Amino acid sequence: TEKCRVTVVGSGNWGSVAAKLIASNTLKLSSFHDEVRMWVFEEVLPSGEKLSEAINKNNENVKYLPGIKLGTNVVADPDLEHAVQDANMLVFVTPHQFMEGICRRLVGMIREDAQAISLIKGMEVKMEGPCMISSLITEQLGINCCVLMGANIANEIAVEKFSEATVGYREIRDIAEKWVQLFSTPYFMVSAVQDVEGVELCGTLKNVVAIAAGIVDGLEMGNNTKAAIMRIGLREMKAFSKLLFSSVKDSTFFESCGVADLITTCLGGRNRKCAEAFARNGGKRSFDELEAEMLQGQKLQGVSTAKEVYEVLSHRGWLELFPLFTIVHEISIGRRPPSAIVEFSELKPKFS
Ligand code: NAD
Ligand code: 13P
Repeated sequence: TEKCRVTVVGSGNWGSVAAKLIASNTLKLSSFHDEVRMWVFEEVLPSGEKLSEAINKNNENVKYLPGIKLGTNVVADPDLEHAVQDANMLVFVTPHQFMEGICRRLVGMIREDAQAISLIKGMEVKMEGPCMISSLITEQLGINCCVLMGANIANEIAVEKFSEATVGYREIRDIAEKWVQLFSTPYFMVSAVQDVEGVELCGTLKNVVAIAAGIVDGLEMGNNTKAAIMRIGLREMKAFSKLLFSSVKDSTFFESCGVADLITTCLGGRNRKCAEAFARNGGKRSFDELEAEMLQGQKLQGVSTAKEVYEVLSHRGWLELFPLFTIVHEISIGRRPPSAIVEFSELKPKFS
């Protein structure tokens, strides 16, 4: 039988680590070609060199993951169509806001037998309503799409510190097993659950809670407040997920993609970090400005996700059911001050 060929679409902080994980396994597994192609959104570095060329020369993503060798079987490719053309396993890992454009470019360019997995935390909101990124991929490209989410701060996995992750799959367990095999290492423990929507919504929605946690940090409100925000946030994550998809399982929230990712992101993520700075500045400097200054090209997902969630809530008349999600958006656009994050009367339990 034909060996599988893997392409990683995306090469940011997590995209580069994903390529490293996969490349360590394709060398060991006889059912995969050794080479892992990684599509790079091309840019010119301050040195004048192209990022893709620098990655191939140094075997390192000098901009988004400096200091980490990716494995010599990772090949950076700035040509999207070329990068995907031979692959039958496609790993999508870009900031979510770029995926509509990427999918549009990929229509008719991929193999018909391709399988996909999305590591992207986010969603799109269209006229018809919310659309998860895995559904966008399936609808636009006509291919099955699993998801992989978890408590996975990329820089920690890059130096091989132990963590767990969750693959969400729709029907075919065999395909989920193949993804688990491709990602698992002794320091990256992956398990699979049959709940794509639940896994993907956990990864997406916790970024909104992380903005709230960062605001609490910036206002120096302490650990009890932060824990309360995380608990209320988790409750809203579960309620929102179940209202959108009745198939979402309670048990998914206890997987790595659920409570564990919520915790790590609220402690050590980029959304938390920028939200802390936002609150320290009294909301006077915008998230866009702080993102550009603090993250050097890396992207926040929580602020746009808060807006997307807000659109769904207001459209469906659910704003009052989700006071934390609502407040995060209103604070992030400057409609309310950061201190509104704990207007407790509004945070009374709506769900148990
Ligand atoms: P990143 O934020 O580090 O990097 C931004 C990426 O976007 C770069 O590769 C850049 O080249 C690219 N880019 C910029 N403009 C673009 C455009 N117009 N079109 C296409 N690409 C463009 O990226 P990341 O950390 O790999 O994040 C990707 C996804 O992975 C996100 O959904 C994120 O939530 C998720 N994720 C990240 C981490 C982490 O710790 N970094 C962990 C788990 C999941
Ligand atoms: P940030 O994007 O907030 O850094 O979160 C990373 C993450 O998703 C960890 O699992």
